[in-house]
This record gives sequence, C-alpha cells and structure tokens, in this order.
Amino acid sequence: MRYCKTCLSPDTRPNARFNAQGICIACTYSEASRDIAYEARLRELREIVRRLTQRRKYQEYDCIVGVSGGKDSTRQALWVREKLGLTPLLVCVAYPPRQVSQVGVDNLSNLISRGFDCVMLGPAPQTSRDLMREAFFRFTNIFRATEMVLFAGVPKMAVAHDIKLILWGENPALQVGDAGSLGESIWDGNNIRNLNTLAGGELGWMVDKVGRPESILPYQFPDVALMREKLINTVFLGPAWSNWSISENSAFAMPVGLHIRKEGVASTGDLMGTSMLDEEWATINMMLKYYKLGFGRASDYVNEEIRAQRLTREEGAVLVKRYDGICDDKYVESFCRYVSISVDEFWAQVARAASPVLFESVPGKQRPQPLFTPGVDRG
Ligand SMILES: [Zn+2]
Repeated sequence: MRYCKTCLSPDTRPNARFNAQGICIACTYSEASRDIAYEARLRELREIVRRLTQRRKYQEYDCIVGVSGGKDSTRQALWVREKLGLTPLLVCVAYPPRQVSQVGVDNLSNLISRGFDCVMLGPAPQTSRDLMREAFFRFTNIFRATEMVLFAGVPKMAVAHDIKLILWGENPALQVGDAGSLGESIWDGNNIRNLNTLAGGELGWMVDKVGRPESILPYQFPDVALMREKLINTVFLGPAWSNWSISENSAFAMPVGLHIRKEGVASTGDLMGTSMLDEEWATINMMLKYYKLGFGRASDYVNEEIRAQRLTREEGAVLVKRYDGICDDKYVESFCRYVSISVDEFWAQVARAASPVLFESVPGKQRPQPLFTPGVDRG
C-alpha cells in the first residue's frame, strides 16, 4: 500500500491514480483549484445550464436534483434555486422503513419544507433486504445494490418526467479521485454510471438472487442510448464551488435545520457527526471498506481537511489511526437481525474478505487487526 505524498489516500482506493510525484488526483486537482476564478466558473455553469434548459423554461421543472435531505443535498437544492435561479424537482430514493433513521426522515422533511416539490421512489423493501444480504456475502459491501438504486433512480425519474437536466453535486473524479467517472469536461456527469461503486451497472447477480428481472427495475440505469435520444444531460455543480467539503457543507446545512447524529465518533468513526445520516448501516459499510482496502470514514474527512490546509498530514494520521474502521457492535447486531444472519457469520465473512496484506486475525479477537500504520507506505 502506497499513500499519496500530500494526503492519506492510499493506492488501494479503487480507480486511484497517482502522478509521477506520488500525488493523488484529488490533491492534484485541489492544488490546481487554489488559483481558480470561481466567479468565472459560476458564469460558465450558468451558461451551460441556460443552454440546456432554455427551451423549456416555465413549462416544466428546469432540472432534477437527487436528494436525501443530508448536508450535501440540502446545500445543493438551495444553491440550485438561489444561485442558478432554477426550479428543480427533487428526487428522493427512500430507504425501506426498517432501515431509514428518524434523523433521515426529519432532514428530508426539513428540506422539502423550504418550498420544494419532491418525488419519492421507494424500492420494494423485501427485494432491498434480499439484495443487501446477498451483497454482503458476495462483495462484503452491503450497499452494492443500494448505491445502484440511489444513482439510477435519479436518471430514471428524469426519463419518466422528461426533464433534460440532472444536476449532481461533487464530481467524484475530482473530489475523491475516482477516475472511472471522468467525462469530457469537469462539468460532464454523463459517465457517472462508471463509478467504481456502481461497477458499470452489472446487474446479473441481482437477477440471480431475486429471480425476476422486473424486480430490479429501480436498480437499472436507463440505457445510454435512451438518455442521448431524450437529450438528458448530467452536469456536476462541484467545480463551481470553492468550498465543497464535509465540514463546509455541514456548516452550511446545520443553520438551515439539518439534524445531526446523536451518537459520538467513538461509535461511528464520523468525526463531524454529519455523514450519511439517513440510516446507520453506512457505518458498517465504512468499516467493511476499511478491512478490505485499509481506509475508512475518518480518512475521507481527514483527506479533505488536509487538502484545505486545516489539518497537517501528521495530525490527520493520528485521527485516521484512531477512528478509521470504528463501528459499534449495536449496528452490526441490528444489521444481522435485519438480514437474518448471526453475528458470528458476519465476522466470519469479514475475516474472509479482509485484506491479508493489511490485516491479520488474532485469536480471541473478533475483529481483524491492522498490520499497517496510516501514512506509512507498506510493501
Ligand atoms: Zn492526495
């Protein structure tokens, strides 16, 4: 495992790319963006949006914004209305009743109550549960199907409502360094289906599990050809924002009513208490990622803070060592109840999936133990 020389992003991150100086793509972009004239970027974005919406003004929604009610989507929806002067239709892909958190429900209500129209897409809970269990054993990633529906639901609604413009927040290639989603320009989000987490939209395993192709309709991205034919474009907003980060989006969203997590960092590894609030099993998935790849939720936050020069790499390494991979037993237990497996089966799967290079099993300890030190190259 090799770390970026500037931040603590390791090359085990899927689709990671380091330059010849050993610096990751997110740091390279961040460094270059210090000199960006954001006013000019905003004008550029307004021009793109004007071009893509002009024929339809006052007849339909101008655009679609996918929301959960969390910090990012709260900021995004308000920004689209206020800075771009658009009338968005918000699309929320809802979690099943047994999964969604009260904080998540309160946050979505808070956002809608600010005067937005919102459509909800609620995939069938039983299918969602079956796919979550399957994804855990097959990929050790309980959100493999969930992410599909969160990403595919928005363009599906764009097709259904014949809305030509989808506005997405961050550009994952630039903000976290997932090169799979790179498009023709920094604004181009039409390749978002190639993100690592979506694995190119491979659905075969889902059909194998549920047996009926029609049961996974919400999980399918509309065809590329259909999106082109309908002239639907996805545009990233992130490049026009000088301050898109976990901490800054939190600072924006809290004063406008965002409810945050009551559990502390010792249970969740969430240093700000504002990430993925709609449900609690995201904490499990961040832990699973940590055992597979050697980095987790604290890393994501710390890397942004290093790039923003609010933390040094050394300070960041202390936080990452302490909080990456943190996930309270209570989340594991509730997840196991939900998918009807035992806690022992859960940890046996984790042991099978943990990186043998980065972790070792220690007798008497349920959780794999790290063999690496954050920030120090290994092997
Ligand atoms: Zn970096």
